[in-house]
Amino acid sequence: MSKPKLIVFDLDYTLWPFWVDTHVDRPFRKDKNGVVYDRNGQKVKFYPEVPEVLEKLRTEGYTLAIASRTGEIRGANELVELFGWQKYFQYKEIYPGCKVQHFTEFKKQSGISFEEMMFFDDEQRNINDLSAVGVTAILVPHGVTMKLVENALKKFQQRNK
Ligand SMILES: [Mg+2]
Repeated sequence: MSKPKLIVFDLDYTLWPFWVDTHVDRPFRKDKNGVVYDRNGQKVKFYPEVPEVLEKLRTEGYTLAIASRTGEIRGANELVELFGWQKYFQYKEIYPGCKVQHFTEFKKQSGISFEEMMFFDDEQRNINDLSAVGVTAILVPHGVTMKLVENALKKFQQRNK
């Protein structure tokens, strides 16, 4: 196995630079230029390289998923939709709790083992929890970038040769 069969992303401070439960307020809206605003007229942004990363992974045939512990389940889903990312993610588990629970759902739904999964998250506690069960978990220091993902995939390939 040289490639992960499932690549999972956290949301807050991994795909976008804020906490969806405290820093922005739903409902959200998208203007005609595709810019998303929250209810206070505050612009809602994602990390700049994220669309390119998701598009590339999809083109290369990877299966993608979201695992988030946020309590703002509706807002998180709305933003994924408004950003146009729904099409990239085959699985989504968004609710509070230990992320091992989220990944157990992925395993159940997909039949993919933890060893065949890769995970990107900004919080060390989540990295520790998932590493302990065999997921290749990568700490994201300043949001997802192309370079970070490419390096992680390269390492995965070398380690599993
Ligand atoms: Mg996070």
